[in-house]
Amino acid sequence: MSAGRWSGGSPAVEQAVRTLRSGGLVAIPTETVYGLGADAENVGAVERVFAVKGRPPTHPLIVHIGGAHQLDDWAAEVPEPARRIAERFWPGPLTLVLRRSRRVPDAVTGGLETVALRVPAHPAALDVLTAFGGGVAAPSANRFGHVSPTTADHVVEGLGADVDYVLDGGPCEVGVESTILDLTDEPVILRPGGVAREELAKVMGVPVRVGAKAAVRVPGQHPSHYAPRARVCLVEPDRVVDEAERLREKGHRPGVLLPSAYASRSASPAGQVVVEVPHADEEYARRLYEFLRHFDRRRCDVVVASLPEPRGIGLAIADRLRRAAGPRDATPREP
Ligand code: AMP
Ligand code: MG
Repeated sequence: MSAGRWSGGSPAVEQAVRTLRSGGLVAIPTETVYGLGADAENVGAVERVFAVKGRPPTHPLIVHIGGAHQLDDWAAEVPEPARRIAERFWPGPLTLVLRRSRRVPDAVTGGLETVALRVPAHPAALDVLTAFGGGVAAPSANRFGHVSPTTADHVVEGLGADVDYVLDGGPCEVGVESTILDLTDEPVILRPGGVAREELAKVMGVPVRVGAKAAVRVPGQHPSHYAPRARVCLVEPDRVVDEAERLREKGHRPGVLLPSAYASRSASPAGQVVVEVPHADEEYARRLYEFLRHFDRRRCDVVVASLPEPRGIGLAIADRLRRAAGPRDATPREP
């Protein structure tokens, strides 16, 4: 594995593109989280993404493209609202699910007749996509089910030599994954994310439901996802302090996501690791995964948190906390 820092059209971009062309895996910074990218048309490289992540092949990948002008290369029958939405929100943290064109290999979509497409709003990612010219299939650059990486260091910690090249574009601005909007039928948000439901509804002129399609297996719908090693325990905001203390008394070492309304000026109580949740949800989203990693590093065995109001990006934060608190399967978790 090698790494390079992006600084506007740098040799690091050329190295990233060379790696993609030779079928290698590149960690790419985006505004949401770091992606583990492969040439979307190279089936061997795409299969390696699944292998490295430990991701079941039935969980399809998002194809990243360099601009809305490439929409018709990857999607068939693009409906008018999809074009309007793409023009309005791309580059940005919004993924559109559309019918796929013949160009999209089965390996990318897990055999589904749809494809998920996004133009990321990060200058380094756009440089790579523009120079590469093709599509880059990229899930988040972490092992399946774990906390997504929001810095290049997180990628190296999590994937090590399994990634061929890490393009360091600094910390991610949005911090949670993209909103996934399915436009193959009536619009439905499959995963809340960086673009708010309210904004989508305003531009589309219709209410947008948040839901799941039975036929689509989205990793965000896996019972446990985006999870730190510590068990996550959700309570009402006014119960966070008491619940943390109760768990500590029972011999646990709680990490505490303390709502800003309950923030105290005093230091963390003994035996607890307290993080004061930022007042603005945008800042909370940006730092959420860093907080969860912090609790793991400080060897917390439980995280006590409450859900933010489900509006704006608060909906995405609440979704990730719920998934992080979801039931775990018996699969051993890597450090
Ligand atoms: P991740 O790569 O883990 O951020 O997740 C990418 C998301 O896009 C996943 O939730 C995928 O299931 C979803 N996705 C990718 N392709 C499709 C598709 N063809 N239909 C529906 N969802 C998709
Ligand atoms: Mg992921």
